[in-house]
Amino acid sequence: MTLLSQLLQTKGQEVYAVAPETTVYEALAVMADKNIGAVLVLDKGRVAGIFSERDYARRVVLQGKASRDTAVAEVMTAEVVYARPSLSVEKCLALMTEKRFRHVPVLDDEDQLLGIVSIGDVVKAMLAKQQIIINHLEDYIHQ
Ligand code: AMP
Repeated sequence: MTLLSQLLQTKGQEVYAVAPETTVYEALAVMADKNIGAVLVLDKGRVAGIFSERDYARRVVLQGKASRDTAVAEVMTAEVVYARPSLSVEKCLALMTEKRFRHVPVLDDEDQLLGIVSIGDVVKAMLAKQQIIINHLEDYIHQ
């Protein structure tokens, strides 16, 4: 069983975040520059929301808003679902599938931000684990 704490050790704990007053345009520039699909919105170190490409499509473009005149705070999701580092990657994938989102911040017991995992990170970790099991089984069969 791989835990999110182990995944973060491999992936790194860097979190790309913006302040609530950042414009949507600036947030999109960060996402493009870092090649990511969502940014966390931090207000004085506290998680205030999450803004993803889906929010841009549905809450900005389709609503006829201008990205340079709209703050991320207006269009982010404020109720952020997070996970603890002790959660397994399998359970994290189940959570993402059930809630239909692809990003989950990881917070410790004191609600300190430890990192963020995407569905891509989770699937990658699960595939790596399965490959190790397959290799072991192949070695066993060929003995
Ligand atoms: P995503 O699939 O991550 O692009 O996100 C789809 C929708 O869910 C968007 O409205 C996001 O703002 C929202 N979202 C993404 N991650 C989370 C999360 N961890 N908690 C709550 N909402 C989220």
